[in-house]
Amino acid sequence: MSDSHLPFDLLGRPLHDLRLSVIDACNFRCGYCMPADRVPEDYGTDASQRLSFDEIETLVRAFVRLGVRKLRLTGGEPLLRKRLPDLVRRLAVIPGLEDIALTTNGVLLAQQAQALHDAGLLRITVSLDALDPEVFAEMSGRRGRVGEVLAGIDAAVAAGFKRLKINAVVQRGLNESQVVPLLERFRGTGHVVRFIEFMDVGDSNDWRLERMVPSSVLRDRIAARWPLHPVQADYRGEVAERYGFDDGGGEVGFVSSVSTPFCGDCHRARVSADGRLFTCLFASAGADLRAVLAQGEDALVAHVAGLWSARGDRYSELRGRPEVRDRRRVEMYLIGG
Ligand code: SAM
Ligand code: SF4
Ligand code: SF4
Repeated sequence: MSDSHLPFDLLGRPLHDLRLSVIDACNFRCGYCMPADRVPEDYGTDASQRLSFDEIETLVRAFVRLGVRKLRLTGGEPLLRKRLPDLVRRLAVIPGLEDIALTTNGVLLAQQAQALHDAGLLRITVSLDALDPEVFAEMSGRRGRVGEVLAGIDAAVAAGFKRLKINAVVQRGLNESQVVPLLERFRGTGHVVRFIEFMDVGDSNDWRLERMVPSSVLRDRIAARWPLHPVQADYRGEVAERYGFDDGGGEVGFVSSVSTPFCGDCHRARVSADGRLFTCLFASAGADLRAVLAQGEDALVAHVAGLWSARGDRYSELRGRPEVRDRRRVEMYLIGG
């Protein structure tokens, strides 16, 4: 598909980013995503239901032809997918794909960082909601240990990943106390901590507005300790608002999808591990791509172009309105954030 034929959706948004879930299982049970009392211990679709590496490669090639330049591998916990570096190696060489990144809870990263780097992975985001071991245990559903995540971050740096993003979802009364310690730990390292507003994704996490801490509140609190200045976005559609520390300690980011919706610049498609396309993080259902995928890359390009052209999603801008309020929402662990 030539550039002049790249699809735009109903709101004039092109397709630039793809988030691809490689597995729906996870070794954590974060309460805001996959609460232990709602999702069974052995949750996860059979390997036979997941897209194979061949299917994923065809899919990514098709999405690149539709305009995708940035790919993020996610989950569930993507490092639970066997032979992930082999998949990265195949995707990293796809012509036209400029960026290939991974989001992980970091617990298995120490073992895999070098292989992922050698395979061509360019960037890593590690989710880390707390440094205090007890708060970390509470946030992760008492799975994993914070020391394992920190070891994963160190291993990633040793493997050659320079500037990691560290994502922390902040929930009122649970881990607000961790905001300053996280910055104390990572300021000056080159890594960028990003605080994410607790979102009303899925139907399991018992979301309530009072549990969300607006980014503006955190920003003021942080600025009182370390004065901040705004930093220009690198590109249109960058989801995090960026601030620099006046003292040269690096940057901090805020992802404010609840308090400051950014649907107008949303250029992102998501595909679940079993091959369903979701055109919004808050969609009720996905379009099953497997049958068309079996017909090959050209068929998939035409099909997805049609689906993208019909997209009108802007949930965050409509949040609370009757037309979206009572709709079912896909779970975050199926489409990876
Ligand atoms: N398991 C990996 C991880 O945690 O990094 C990748 C998948 S996880 C679904 C991707 C991101 O979604 C994580 O950074 C997580 O913190 C974020 N997330 C999950 N549920 C969320 C919620 N309700 N609100 C805001 N962010 C959420
Ligand atoms: Fe697992 Fe990531 Fe969801 Fe936590 S946020 S339960 S680590 S998928
Ligand atoms: Fe994109 Fe949907 Fe989020 Fe809006 S609500 S920014 S359309 S994913």
